[in-house]
This record gives sequence, structure tokens and C-alpha cells, in this order.
Amino acid sequence: MLTASPSLRPEAPLRIALYPGSFDPLTRGHVTIVQRGRRIFDEVVVAVARNVSKKSLFTIDERVEMARDVFAHDSGIRVETFDGLLVDYARSIGATALLRGLRAVADFEYENQMASMNHMLAPDIETVFLMADANTFFVSSRLVKEVASLGGDVSTVVPSAVHDRLIARLAKQKGES
Ligand code: ADP
Repeated sequence: MLTASPSLRPEAPLRIALYPGSFDPLTRGHVTIVQRGRRIFDEVVVAVARNVSKKSLFTIDERVEMARDVFAHDSGIRVETFDGLLVDYARSIGATALLRGLRAVADFEYENQMASMNHMLAPDIETVFLMADANTFFVSSRLVKEVASLGGDVSTVVPSAVHDRLIARLAKQKGES
């Protein structure tokens, strides 16, 4: 009788997903996408974009440091930076998927364009979309910064390591202006 022996199976390649964004700062919305992505992929690489034109509140190093703090407990999550073409970076780290979160209709058009363009450039790399969680679908980095700068409580929608730094940074900015 033939029995399946795991030891005879060729080693399956690691399934690596790349989760790109500006993460200025990381929110609980991002965190849930990464954690849910980890149920599908062996490794999720959170990639903080270096070449974003938007003016950021946190430097790239600060954004990386905060994300590393938040995901330190899971060796299957890495936080890196990248610049240049996303699909080139994906290939360089052996990622076969791009992970993205979809909040509302507003995200759809941009995400659809990006996914189609990336598919044209690299048909071997799939974009995988996860629908935003009911608890965090309204959360964006931009809104978090805006509300916090006006004194609103955003402690439930950003990780605590991010919250402390956010409050400190906004207080410093206020002091400077
Ligand atoms: P970008 O820099 O591309 O504007 P972000 O860094 O804010 O975007 O986010 C990166 C990815 O995470 C995008 O796919 C975005 O749609 C997704 N995302 C952001 N916030 C949430 C959220 N609250 N729930 C689910 N996905 C989200």
C-alpha cells in the first residue's frame, strides 16, 4: 500500500507576499491585513516605499522602526524599504504576490489600476486583495494624523507603539509652530 510520506515530498518553495505602502504611520487597518495575509503566505514582507512624493510625518527610518516593533513577535513578517519599480523589488525578494487591502469603493479605482499595471509588467506576480475588517475599514493614516492633530483619541485604531510616537511627534510639531 502506498502511503504519503512527507519526507519524500520535494520541499515546497516559500510563498512570499509583498505588502507595499507608505505606512505613515502604520494603523490597525494595516496590521490586520498583514496578520490575515500571514494565514495565506509563509512570509509577508511589509515594504515601506522610499519614493513617495507625499510629505510624511515620520521619516522612513521611523516608519520602519515602528512597524518592526509591532511585528517583532512573528518571524514570518519582515519590514523593509524599497524604491524603484515595485515588481522589480518583488522579484528580487522572491515574492509571488502583492498584498493589498481594500476599504471602500474609493480604493477600488486606484487599486484596480495599480494591479492591472503590475500584471502587465509582471504577469507571474498576482495581486491579492483582502477586504478591510469591519472594525478598521474607515481607518487611514491620513485621517488618523488629522484627527490626532486636532486632539481626537485615535488610540484604538493604531498600535500602542505607534500611538505614543504619534502623540509625541504632533506635540513637537505644535511646539515648533
Ligand atoms: P498608500 O501608501 O498606497 O496610499 P497605505 O500605506 O495607507 O497606502 O496602505 C497600503 C495598503 O494598505 C493599501 O492597499 C491600502 O488600501 C491598505 N489599507 C490602508 N488602510 C487600510 C485599512 N484600514 N484596512 C484595510 N486596508 C488598508
